[in-house]
Amino acid sequence: MVDKLKVKLIEKQDPDVNKDASFYWKKCLSLIKEQVKPITYNTWFSPIVPLQIENKTLIVQVPTQFFWEWIEEHYHSILIKSVQNVLGTDAKISFVVKEEVENEKSPIHFVEIKNNGTNGKKENLPPIESNLNPRYQFSNFIQGEGNQLARATGLAISENPGETSFNPFFVYGGVGLGKTHLIQAIGNRIKEKFPDKRVLYISSDDFTRKFVDAIQNNQANEFQNFYRTLDVLIIDDIQFLSGKEKTQDLFFHIFNNLHQSRKQIILSSDKPPKELKGLDDRLISRFKWGLQADIQPPDFETRVAILNSKAQEFGMNLSPQLIEFISTNITSNIRELEGCLIKMLATATISSKEIDMELTKKIVKEIASDKKISLGIDDITKIVCEFLSLPENKIREKTRKKEIVFARQIAMYLSKEYTSNSLKTIGLYFGGKDHSTVIHAYNQITKNLESDIHLQEIIEKLRSKIEMVI
Ligand code: ADP
Ligand code: MG
Repeated sequence: MVDKLKVKLIEKQDPDVNKDASFYWKKCLSLIKEQVKPITYNTWFSPIVPLQIENKTLIVQVPTQFFWEWIEEHYHSILIKSVQNVLGTDAKISFVVKEEVENEKSPIHFVEIKNNGTNGKKENLPPIESNLNPRYQFSNFIQGEGNQLARATGLAISENPGETSFNPFFVYGGVGLGKTHLIQAIGNRIKEKFPDKRVLYISSDDFTRKFVDAIQNNQANEFQNFYRTLDVLIIDDIQFLSGKEKTQDLFFHIFNNLHQSRKQIILSSDKPPKELKGLDDRLISRFKWGLQADIQPPDFETRVAILNSKAQEFGMNLSPQLIEFISTNITSNIRELEGCLIKMLATATISSKEIDMELTKKIVKEIASDKKISLGIDDITKIVCEFLSLPENKIREKTRKKEIVFARQIAMYLSKEYTSNSLKTIGLYFGGKDHSTVIHAYNQITKNLESDIHLQEIIEKLRSKIEMVI
């Protein structure tokens, strides 16, 4: 489809069609002019060149990819509204990037802004493996206060993928709270209701790995093109794209393309967009376009309901007392609730014992004791700042003030020791420092610890505070 348009545009510039396009574009411009500042108008609208109108689509040319991205991000609704005002509510606008037309090597870039549903024909596309686990359904996703909004939004999206304002849908929350379950349940429901839709679930790590493979095999374009054929793209744990600039860049383009074509994008993360570190601002701002919903740890009643449902699934017959005991003692994580039941079942089977209170207590205790809370850089920073009586936000400031540099070096040192984050991530956290700064901080503290008794004392106290949390 794109190639055909390219040929038409380059070889068959019909002057009448062009005149039409200019006529209507002028009308659009006069509407736009009323809504934006003159400087904005001159910078972002005057350079747009109308090319032609085809099937109620106004095709215009913009100078660069960046230009397109900018107007698409900032003036999307003004543009589409003015075009539809002039050409009717089913009108669309498409962009051609000038530098790509001139540069024969790179493919022409066509992006449509349109306001109505169906995009492109896909009869010839082979079906894809969705990668969804059939275990994750809405029917076994227990509703509770902590996941109510996320679940309801997920259901609404399943009815109308790409057509709600929840695009992208960004689900965030701590580990083991049901993010993967929910986003896969949406995928499964969509496949059930719309079997023809091309739905793909992928973790961001897999996405990165496959992209790297594609580059190595000279198939980066094919890779990108494949993603553009999807109707629903679900990416799990998007926080792991942190620091991976090339992958982010690719994802940015895929995101734009799908979003423009009203395809559904669903993302999960351990943090809300604004707290994601090491992710391109352009991506973060896009993550905020649709709906962000968090999943909070389940309350007591929800934990009981989840345990009852899982016990039934596993064929276990547990008394209300046992369920209550587990719900009271395992509180923060649904994966652990499930793990507890599995462990109980396994232990009872292996040792041919009854599942009673004694066995339950033993297993709950084991789970509580080998629970390693994973400590984040933010937890460490909090502990350090509290101890040194420094407001937390100061530590990321660009300053050479002695006490701030000191606190930052300590926080970097302890983050390297106690978390599994890379030096790069640690650096990013502390105001975009690079990894050599982190190494320097680490070496500096290590060296000073040899002779500085005051520092030894501070580090020792901090260690005991941190270890209390772990
Ligand atoms: P996350 O992706 O947030 O780390 P998961 O989706 O992997 O968490 O959930 C962990 C486990 O808990 C999974 O086995 C999942 O099925 C189960 N689970 C999570 N939330 C619920 C829920 N609301 N109802 C039933 N099971 C749940
Ligand atoms: Mg998950």
